[in-house]
Amino acid sequence: MAIDTHFPPSVRPWSDRLRRAAIMLIAAALALTVVVLVGELSLGQAVAVFVCIAAAALVPWRLHDTTIPLDDVRRADPVESASVAAVISGMPDPAVLLDRAGRVIHLNAAAAELAPALRKNELAQFALRSPEIITALREAIATTEPRRAAYLDHVPLDRWMELVITPVPVPTLFGGTDKCMLMTFHDQTQLRQVEEMRADFIANASHELRTPLAALSGFIDTLQGQAKDDPKARARFLGIMQTQAGRMARLIDDLLSLSRVELSAHVRPDTLVDLAPIIREVVDGLEPLARERQVDILVNIETDPPEAPAMIAGDREELLRLFENLIENALKYGASGGRVIVSLDAASAGESPPEIRAVVRDFGSGIAPEHLPRLTERFYRADVGDSRSQGGTGLGLSLVKHILNRHRGRLLIESEPNKGATFTACFPRAKAPLTI
Ligand code: ADP
Repeated sequence: MAIDTHFPPSVRPWSDRLRRAAIMLIAAALALTVVVLVGELSLGQAVAVFVCIAAAALVPWRLHDTTIPLDDVRRADPVESASVAAVISGMPDPAVLLDRAGRVIHLNAAAAELAPALRKNELAQFALRSPEIITALREAIATTEPRRAAYLDHVPLDRWMELVITPVPVPTLFGGTDKCMLMTFHDQTQLRQVEEMRADFIANASHELRTPLAALSGFIDTLQGQAKDDPKARARFLGIMQTQAGRMARLIDDLLSLSRVELSAHVRPDTLVDLAPIIREVVDGLEPLARERQVDILVNIETDPPEAPAMIAGDREELLRLFENLIENALKYGASGGRVIVSLDAASAGESPPEIRAVVRDFGSGIAPEHLPRLTERFYRADVGDSRSQGGTGLGLSLVKHILNRHRGRLLIESEPNKGATFTACFPRAKAPLTI
């Protein structure tokens, strides 16, 4: 152990040594005063004797105690004690205890992993590379005030770290206190990512709303101005305004649905529902769109035994939205294929894990592979222009993913350009009847 480089615990601060020698010095002062008063010594001689006694008493303690093994002294020192080491080791985040010169007294395994160059009894500044940490540490040492610093750590991965330096008074052997410093490091990466996502989300939502709003106010101006007395133009503009207002309404509807599902994300639905009638209801509702797009919808429901219900623990309203989004997307983006197949496979009992799969397959232009991993992100579209012209909000698949997460299910997306796309919603099969 490199004791020589460390401020030896036996060399106590002046305040400690003074406290320890106080009684001896007071006794010496009283004795010398009496001797001076009885005329045995002059004042000058008495002062000289007192200075000698005081110097001897205040000489660093180690000179008098060289017989005591240094390790014993260190163990007796509260700062060096096993209990302080245990507290530092038990801290979940990287933690380092420094003396007031900035030397490492204790560090835990997480700190050693974060900064492998940190060594006990060596100056922490030499082991830490980030300029933000070094500045904060220097300031904390100079002022003995708390300091914080945020920095980007690159090894082994990019992560945002926050360093907190807190001065901690630690009792010394002689009743005084040593100002040590506790350095703790906190990984803020996830927090920052959530912050960024929130900011992105607000920016995207405002942008999506601003576009139709700008169109609406533009047409209102035109209708109040040059198109005021032109019934043909008025009818056309009102039609466009209706479309834009519809787009805003859809966007707000989707945003509200998304936030509702997110709010109940941790509460698993506990009502038993049969998926087959839900799918049939959605398909019936989308028949007019299918006719308009000239697409045939085929529904294929397989249960065992036939006609048996396909039961899952689910929220009916959310499941209606889920299938509406998937089938509507297939009709909008896969219309060129001319047909959409919606199948429900609830027959494969005994499989592991027990799942019920609902598959929506179209035969349209498909989706390029680079878009597949991002399709369920909010506002992500493979083709922005196409989505807008179809009245899309970019939130549908994000909503689908959230609904499936709440149902402890998963979404599989497969597609090859020009061969169509297949969206599979997998649900855990209900075990025992709950509430119907
Ligand atoms: P939108 O409101 O734009 O439809 P979604 O989240 O439902 O938003 O879909 C995201 C994007 O995924 C769409 O903009 C579209 O580019 C693509 N997409 C979704 N379903 C299909 C499909 N069946 N075929 C091709 N592309 C699709």
